[in-house]
Amino acid sequence: MNSRFSTRRDFLKTGTLAAASLPFIGALSPSIRAAGSDRKLGFALVGLGGLSTNQIAPALQKTKFCRLAGIVTGTPAKAERWKAQYNLPDKNIYSYDTMQQMADNPDIDVVYVVTPNALHAEHTLKAAKAGKHVLCEKPMEVSSEKCQQMIDACKKAGRQLAIGYRLHFEPNNLECVRLAREKVFGGLKFIEADFGFRIGNPDQWRLNRALAGGGPLMDVGIYALQATRYITGEEPVLVTAVETVTDPVKFKDVEETIAWQLKFPSGIVTSSTSTYNFNGMARYQAFAENGWFELSPAYGYNGIEGRRSDDKPINLESGDQFAMEMDNFAQCILNNQPTRVPGEEGLRDVKIMMAIYEAAKTGKSVKLA
Ligand code: NAD
Repeated sequence: MNSRFSTRRDFLKTGTLAAASLPFIGALSPSIRAAGSDRKLGFALVGLGGLSTNQIAPALQKTKFCRLAGIVTGTPAKAERWKAQYNLPDKNIYSYDTMQQMADNPDIDVVYVVTPNALHAEHTLKAAKAGKHVLCEKPMEVSSEKCQQMIDACKKAGRQLAIGYRLHFEPNNLECVRLAREKVFGGLKFIEADFGFRIGNPDQWRLNRALAGGGPLMDVGIYALQATRYITGEEPVLVTAVETVTDPVKFKDVEETIAWQLKFPSGIVTSSTSTYNFNGMARYQAFAENGWFELSPAYGYNGIEGRRSDDKPINLESGDQFAMEMDNFAQCILNNQPTRVPGEEGLRDVKIMMAIYEAAKTGKSVKLA
């Protein structure tokens, strides 16, 4: 069995075996070496939309090892607002066209890419060329090829690339990984994992295939897919899928609802659904030989909790996931250690999501290498 997290400690320490087996990358930028490792790493946010504004910038204020040092935006009015709110110097404010000039700016160590999915490669490549480490939001990109380009660019630059998989730092999800890995309820048999919501504004980029790469699967279904992968600790070998559309006007470009099944090498099967058409589905439940455990809700910024078949709750104290994710990445950079959520992890999800789309389109099961 390809067990990715053999114990909770392994998961907490190194995350994935894939991460552990990465070549030793992430050399410190000259500015970090010069200033010593007690200095907070400077983060520049690329794209000042909902996530940057409401989650990441506030989370940066709660971190131990990071600080908001710069921004990249295409909107001058936003630049002015952020400059005033976060006391940013003019020299640390860039547009998408000038961001390569960060190469000469020692204030910025890490670029956090928070733009629409299909722009992640473009912005990651620019950051890597400027010699910066990159934290990139999920999904990593809209094709395996673009993910590979991102991995290659960061490797070539000798910089680390991490994907914003915040649940790898969330205690209740980590507890479920422990329950699975330690076989507290015996060997796993079946997982049901679902995530969706009813999307509003029909003009947003999330409904535009060119920018989003797909619909709810790419946006939130990826969390359900991730859960099936980190709970089993295995990589799927077979995919089947079905799509349905009831509003062909709104969903002319991306899927409305998609359901998929995965088969894993040990014989575990999983069943998942993702949608942009209704609310309330944000959970997973894992069934094992002697019992089950579930998180519901499983994927939110807060309020994650669950239950076990022996009536014990799963309700661990959780912090700000974005702060934990950024502090962890900063520590990896400062200590020259691989991240537990490397680009290779993002690429794996994108490959599986492409197989899910292929299975839904062809009506045939798709084998995964
Ligand atoms: P958003 O629409 O609120 O913000 C996107 C930003 O990108 C805006 O500031 C916009 O101006 C900018 N942008 C640059 N070029 C653009 C273009 N050509 N078209 C449209 N916008 C452009 O989106 P968001 O919710 O902040 O999502 C950004 C990224 O973060 C996405 O990849 C998304 O999947 C991810 N995300 C992750 C989480 C999480 O929990 N980790 C949550 C939400 C979003």
